[in-house]
Amino acid sequence: MVEIFLVIEGVRVPVAGKADFLILGPVNPGMASGQHGAANIPSLIHLRLKASYNTAGGNTMKLPGINFDSPKYTTLLDNGYPANRLDVAIIGDGYTAAEQQMFNEDAQAVVDAFKSIEPMRSYISHFNFHRINVISNESGTIDTHVTPHQKPNTALKTFFSPMAERRLIGPDPWVMLVAKASGAPWDKLLVIVNAPRRGGATLLSMTVGYASRNSRDFPAIMIHEAGHVIAKVIDEYVGDLPDIDFAENWSLPNFLPWPNVDTNWKRPKWWRWLTPDTPRPTPNVQVNEDVVGAFQGAVYTGKGVYRPQRSCMMRQHSDPFCVVCTEQWLNAIYKRSKIADGFSPAYELTDTPLVRDAEEAMTFRAHVLRREDIKTTWRIKKLEQTRWRRRQITHDYLSFTTTLPANKVAGLTIPTAWAVECLMEDATERIRTPSVRSRTKQKHRWYVITR
Ligand SMILES: [Zn+2]
Repeated sequence: MVEIFLVIEGVRVPVAGKADFLILGPVNPGMASGQHGAANIPSLIHLRLKASYNTAGGNTMKLPGINFDSPKYTTLLDNGYPANRLDVAIIGDGYTAAEQQMFNEDAQAVVDAFKSIEPMRSYISHFNFHRINVISNESGTIDTHVTPHQKPNTALKTFFSPMAERRLIGPDPWVMLVAKASGAPWDKLLVIVNAPRRGGATLLSMTVGYASRNSRDFPAIMIHEAGHVIAKVIDEYVGDLPDIDFAENWSLPNFLPWPNVDTNWKRPKWWRWLTPDTPRPTPNVQVNEDVVGAFQGAVYTGKGVYRPQRSCMMRQHSDPFCVVCTEQWLNAIYKRSKIADGFSPAYELTDTPLVRDAEEAMTFRAHVLRREDIKTTWRIKKLEQTRWRRRQITHDYLSFTTTLPANKVAGLTIPTAWAVECLMEDATERIRTPSVRSRTKQKHRWYVITR
């Protein structure tokens, strides 16, 4: 069942059963509620129509054998509207009713890791985090690498792969279905498994990440898995596959789909990031720690595949992400969220221009999630003209005050239509790829009639 409700100044008003309703007063479509950044425009009422799973009256989706704790989910970090945030849900497997508090602490540890590791740390306002409390009948996970074999009855049916000792995975579609039934608004899903030994993995489909809680560095392992699930980058470590004996300096054309590895060291995909005058293949020596080149060894094999930097979180989870993986994180963040939640002044009615007196000062504002590195271009033109009359390019400058001149004919001011635009992009140095930069761009246009 889908419940429709309005948010008026942060208060949720159900409108179930009413097909039509009339909104009186200023409305800005797409604007966040007063709770999330618009409170500084007190004269306006911000309304937002939103469909949501009905969680208040019990979810209508029933899954056999699944017991949620109460409440089913809890928001751990609320930075604003899920529609303009990357929502990460953390769900537990192998935690019994008595172990829910332990799961709560484990989920918080993962959120804390996101808050401390770059680039998520700098972009944390683009994220929301939720915890989904599922009760397993028995503690642990399925493990056939130990004697006797462990086969506990858990909610999500996670297991250590029989093929590899530390590959801890689960049935992604089932896990997603359970998470859906919780009603939590998630885009990406991470599973903490209450397993008695260390493990983690993400299936090649990269939809759900899994890590066990039983090592002190498990939040970092989960961030590595999140690198797969959210940033869509592949492992840069080696050792799981035998090395093919490629001839020295042999370079294959690229055929790998992931942005952070390449078989072509001559012109790797990350050529925009290459440090000038760095030899390729790049020797794996300490002096090259900070350069970007083409280091041999990635995707489980020590030969024939190259990575951009010597160290990366996708190679060893105690290291920071390399520049290429970092850029892919920003790509993922801007896939799910924009620079601004909304703009003011709001239109009085949708698609109706603002009406103002000529020569009256007007201020336009963008309500942004974070201020750093935002490049803003403000411009004005008469609606019928093609050339923009005034232009102002600023960094970290999110409001624009202007007066629109009177258009006088034979001493009379005649009504004139204007377009005012705010063009924004994230100018961070963490992005060099044009397609990623484009993703950050956001434009808002106001129509104003002066009289
Ligand atoms: Zn990397």
